[in-house]
Parts: sequence; C-alpha cells; structure tokens
Amino acid sequence: MPGNVGELRALHEAGVVGFKCFLLPSGVDEFGCLDPAQLRTSMARIASFDGLLIAHAEDAASITEPAGPAYPDFLASRPPAAESHAVQGLLTETQRSGCRTHIVHVSAATVLPLLADARARGLPVTAETCPHYLTLSAEDVQGTEFKCCPPIREAANRDTLWAALRDGCSTAWCPTTRPARPR
Ligand SMILES: [Zn+2]
Repeated sequence: MPGNVGELRALHEAGVVGFKCFLLPSGVDEFGCLDPAQLRTSMARIASFDGLLIAHAEDAASITEPAGPAYPDFLASRPPAAESHAVQGLLTETQRSGCRTHIVHVSAATVLPLLADARARGLPVTAETCPHYLTLSAEDVQGTEFKCCPPIREAANRDTLWAALRDGCSTAWCPTTRPARPR
C-alpha cells in the first residue's frame, strides 16, 4: 500500500508471506494503489529482505468506462492490453530490483508469452490464474454476478490458459518468444 514501505521489513519478519499492491484504484478506498515511483521504491525495499511482491496486474491507462451496462461492455472496457501492459511494467521492475514477484489472478492469455519470456530469462516471477477464468467464458456470462477484475474472457482465451497450465507456461509452449532474446 502507499506509505507503508517503512513497515514492510517488520511485517516480513513477523511472518507476512507477501505484500499485495494494486497499480490502479482497487475499488476499495482503504486499499490505495502504487504509482510507478512507489512501486519501484517498494520493490527495492522488498528485495532487500528477499520478500515477495504480489501484484494485481491491471493498468489504468488501458481501461475505459464501460459503454453500457451489459457484460460485453464491461469486458471491452478492460481489454487484455490492460493486463499485458501492467505485467510488462512489473517485469521491468522485477529485472531492475531483483524483487521476487507473484502476479495474481491472470485472466488474459496475452500475458503468457511475457511470463514465459521472463522465466526463460531467469527473472524471479511466478503467476497464477483462477478457477473462474478456467471454467467460465464471456460467451456464457448472463449477469452482473460474474463481474470481477480482471474479467472473465472469451472461450478461446480460456483454452489458451489451459494450454499454458498444462505446459507450465514454458517457452516451448510460446514459440514466438524463443528467438526473441539470444542467451
Ligand atoms: Zn486483485
């Protein structure tokens, strides 16, 4: 959270396993989000005691107000690029700081090549997805009770998440990332 950098080490030593941050307004007033400078400072501090940063990876700049109240409007307002841009920024800071980074609730399959490439480069990054992203699809969503952030995406996206899970999100699964960086 903004402003608690000075408390992180003591919390870590008291047994806190990781520190979650948002990069955009969380929707909960008591849980503020970090700006880029605060993220950099926090990751440097967390890296100093080998702690774990946990990130909600959505980027405000890629998100718009929904055009209407229907689920497709909501989905279109939070495109895969919102996740990809956020993850790209987090990976840049992971490389800079060496801070262990865990990306929670990945929904967009566009994130997977970024993760595969980062892991191939040895960055200390892990990620997870969630049951609702693996079992539901936007085509089936009927009502607002399915609203979550990041959103449940299309069936093709869901199938790609499954493929990456089966494979461990390796570079073998993401051939486009393999030639990108000479080792
Ligand atoms: Zn979250």
